[in-house]
Amino acid sequence: MRLIIVGQSSIMNFVRFSIIIENLRRLYKLAKAYDLTNKVVGKLRVISKVPINERPTQTHGNYWLCVCECGGTCKVPTTYLTGNSNYTQTSCGCDRKKKAFQATSYVDVSDEYLNQYEDFEKFLLIHKALIRTSGNDGQYYKNNNNEYKQIIDYFYHDEQFNAVYDFWLSHQLVDETFYDWAKPSLDHITPSSKGGTNTLNNFQFLTTFENLAKRDMTMAEWNEFKQKTNTQSDYFVESIMKVREGQ
Ligand SMILES: [Zn+2]
Repeated sequence: MRLIIVGQSSIMNFVRFSIIIENLRRLYKLAKAYDLTNKVVGKLRVISKVPINERPTQTHGNYWLCVCECGGTCKVPTTYLTGNSNYTQTSCGCDRKKKAFQATSYVDVSDEYLNQYEDFEKFLLIHKALIRTSGNDGQYYKNNNNEYKQIIDYFYHDEQFNAVYDFWLSHQLVDETFYDWAKPSLDHITPSSKGGTNTLNNFQFLTTFENLAKRDMTMAEWNEFKQKTNTQSDYFVESIMKVREGQ
């Protein structure tokens, strides 16, 4: 009698054990389905799950840190990546930004044209600086598309611009308060007030800080001023270029 009871209870234990294992397997499968690490959706690749205290909002459940083909990163809710929602997110926002830019631009900026610039953010910064500094809201470049394209292309590859741009980006990570002082700013080498033109040979990029300090001096006057007063700054283009060369 006892043996039978023992026998029955070991069968029962075995059955219970099997159910537990089966449940665990289901849970594991479920957990795996919700681990989106390395999943690719459009231009996005999932890097890791965002810790609860770093979620942009607490109403969407899990968020995933994604890196975009453009180099940008973003935090995306699970349902926007799994197809379990009406909306699927396929980029960090650069696609939408690009479309908005194309829709409102005076100049001809086809997909084909924009695609030659891998870094759209960099392109956009140069574009905005050019429109702002030349003070013509793009109407002028609508009729002079080639001149526009020449200026954009020149600065996109220009060593001085890229030095200031990288300097700005590196400060963005280190100290947010320096952020805007380091931002690339398009300068008239000879100021408009002294007859300087809105042409490529009269444009250069400096930090916002140096551009503000230079004010309405020509570059020659500014260099002389710096030398005479022994004015130096990490934000002046010569020291940025020096640091860059030393690296
Ligand atoms: Zn992007």
